[in-house]
Amino acid sequence: MTAVLEAKSLSKIYETDTTIIHAVDGTTLEITSGEFVALVGPSGSGKTTLLALLAGLLDPDRGEVVINGQNLRKMKEKQRTDYRLRNIGFTFQANNLVSYLTVQENIELMLQLNGKLDKEGKARVLQLIDRLGLSQRRHNLPSQLSGGQQQRVAIARALVHDPSIVLADEPTASLDTELAYQVVATFADLIHEQGRAGIMVTHDLRMCIYADRVIQMLDGRIDAIISDKQAIESFANQGRSLAQHP
Ligand code: ADP
Repeated sequence: MTAVLEAKSLSKIYETDTTIIHAVDGTTLEITSGEFVALVGPSGSGKTTLLALLAGLLDPDRGEVVINGQNLRKMKEKQRTDYRLRNIGFTFQANNLVSYLTVQENIELMLQLNGKLDKEGKARVLQLIDRLGLSQRRHNLPSQLSGGQQQRVAIARALVHDPSIVLADEPTASLDTELAYQVVATFADLIHEQGRAGIMVTHDLRMCIYADRVIQMLDGRIDAIISDKQAIESFANQGRSLAQHP
């Protein structure tokens, strides 16, 4: 299967007055359509930096990011911004919903930015709202929603413009366990159903249960890759016992 997202020998170095930090150190990976990958590892292991490099939000010092065969580095700034906007969806830990827009308007905003708020786009917004169980809430403001509902709106917003790649940075950080499972299960289902490539950074190993592949980072490098279903289950179970006996 052809890769939707390819990272080739990606490196990012941060220099401070006293130290040089290899935040991402020669990382190579490929993600195909319909694949949901969990990116895990201790704090400071380079997960967020890698996600930002894959999204084209940060420039690598070395290496390349290729999306659907197109090399981000070979694009001019404006072209890269447009390409990113069209091809990548994001959700962040803080869901960044616009407080004075309703659920429906928040999702539509993403289409507006892409110039896709036509009849078809509007129909897709309603379909996603329905699929994410938000129909009763579509005219509510974010402040009138629970944390789980807000995160669902953020997921809808990341998917509505039909991106081939969806990146999620700690999407369950502010949720209790039950809601976290529900949100990640729905996210994984949508990635599978819609044939997108999904990457989720998470510190909660239990959420890996929904992943097709778990990539473990350490000191800016890929330390382990788990792709066997049973091995992923036991990895996620370790997370459960850690959560019960921290
Ligand atoms: P993680 O997401 O796994 O916690 P990060 O990607 O945030 O890891 O960070 C990787 C390493 O890079 C850490 O040592 C962190 O302190 C360092 N780092 C991240 N961003 C910066 C920055 N803007 N300036 C300097 N060092 C940074």
